[in-house]
Amino acid sequence: MKYLLDTHTHTIASGHAYNTIMEMVEEASKKGLKILGITDHAPTMPGSCHEFYFQNLKAVDREYIEQEYKLELLLGAELNILDEKGRVDLPKRTIKGLDVTIASLHKPCFSSAGLEKNTEAVIAALKNPYIDIIGHPDDSRIPIIYEPVVKIAKEEGKLLEVNNSSLNPKGYRVGAKENYKIMLELCKKYKQPIVIDSDAHFKTAIGNFSNVEALFSEVEFPEELIINTSVERFKTYIQKYKKK
Ligand SMILES: [Zn+2]
Ligand SMILES: [Zn+2]
Repeated sequence: MKYLLDTHTHTIASGHAYNTIMEMVEEASKKGLKILGITDHAPTMPGSCHEFYFQNLKAVDREYIEQEYKLELLLGAELNILDEKGRVDLPKRTIKGLDVTIASLHKPCFSSAGLEKNTEAVIAALKNPYIDIIGHPDDSRIPIIYEPVVKIAKEEGKLLEVNNSSLNPKGYRVGAKENYKIMLELCKKYKQPIVIDSDAHFKTAIGNFSNVEALFSEVEFPEELIINTSVERFKTYIQKYKKK
């Protein structure tokens, strides 16, 4: 299968990732990707950057990158879901200017409030018109109920992520494989598409989906529900393009 996009990666701006935007772009272009999403951690993540970083992303010359590297660069953020109301850690005026937005539950920014409340938090994020993707909904340390999440994602026209880093046996998230098996069965049932992301914090991880591929062959996940194979279909899920 040919994967054309990786929408969830991090640069040095995140505080615990190790390459620059240009190093990431060069690597993605070398690997033949058509879209690279860089989604640095929003400000609540310890060590990440200030809101101004996200406000000023317009300074990055996307056209130059597209011409030189034959690659569309999407600069966004991985927002932290902060509570069960689905509040996130950048103001609407800043989020509106981003190319792509992922919202995730992260241990240092969200304390697990039990199954029901954690699920409410994710559902509220799905209903936020400025959020495109739910990042790594797979961590048993902050468990969620999958059926309502998949149903609302479908209703709202949002993408759910399958995160290659979560499936790394050396990773720190817990229970990802078992949780994804449940989520993917429901995605099949409701015909809800997913996006596979590397969550690269170093450039060599860009476009590496090997852990996800192993899982997909185990659960026989249908190719037509994997958004990474079509730039056009991907764009129908992203606010930036919906607005046009
Ligand atoms: Zn990170
Ligand atoms: Zn994350």
